[in-house]
Amino acid sequence: MVTLRIRVHTGVMIAKGGGVLLGVGHTPQQCGWIWSHRKMANSTRKCKSCGEYRLAADGVKVPAGWFCCHAHAIEFAREKASKATARQLAKAKVADKQVERVKAARHRKRKLDVKPLSYWMKRAQAAVNAYVRARDAGQPCISCGRPDDGSHQRHASHYRSAGGHPELRFCEINIWASCSVCNNWLSGNLVPYREALIAKIGIDKVEWLEGPQEPKRYRREEYQAIEAEYKAKLKELKSNDNGSL
Ligand SMILES: [Zn+2]
Ligand SMILES: [Zn+2]
Repeated sequence: MVTLRIRVHTGVMIAKGGGVLLGVGHTPQQCGWIWSHRKMANSTRKCKSCGEYRLAADGVKVPAGWFCCHAHAIEFAREKASKATARQLAKAKVADKQVERVKAARHRKRKLDVKPLSYWMKRAQAAVNAYVRARDAGQPCISCGRPDDGSHQRHASHYRSAGGHPELRFCEINIWASCSVCNNWLSGNLVPYREALIAKIGIDKVEWLEGPQEPKRYRREEYQAIEAEYKAKLKELKSNDNGSL
């Protein structure tokens, strides 16, 4: 006589179409999917929106993740969308500011481009004169010997006038600090100026200044370079002065 031992395992699975499949007459190995399905049905999952744990079977699975209910899935999607919008707005703001900066720089450049050459000449001269006044600080007026005691304005006085000799306009040995009286009212007070200048730089250089010079025409870039050079020289002079105090 043959005894048959039949193992019967039953499991229930909800099929895609909604019908009920009954697994009958399988070994536990054969109906593994049923067991795992049962395990899943009893497990909990964390809602991506509210963070609560709920039965996995009670929730909603969408591409964005698992949610405890439809309302939370929708809320999550809305929040994500509004964050993305805020990010885009912030990006647009940054881009707008960049455009504004470029526009402002272009506007500044255009304004400077239409400035006449004399504008750049005056800027360069102002920078050279400021350097000369700082260089000669504490020295008496080159023409009359009036001391630099704060009782009068100090000017950068050209020995050979800048108007008559533009090629010496920025020449350091042609410009010395004087009092405003000599520079403004006595046309530089050149006779004593010459004496003092010979004592300072020697007759050879004075005669070179008085001699014929190569005519010079400056371009805008040259004026700008002179301005930059003398601003740097003044800065250096001031920092050396501070260092020696
Ligand atoms: Zn939730
Ligand atoms: Zn003077």
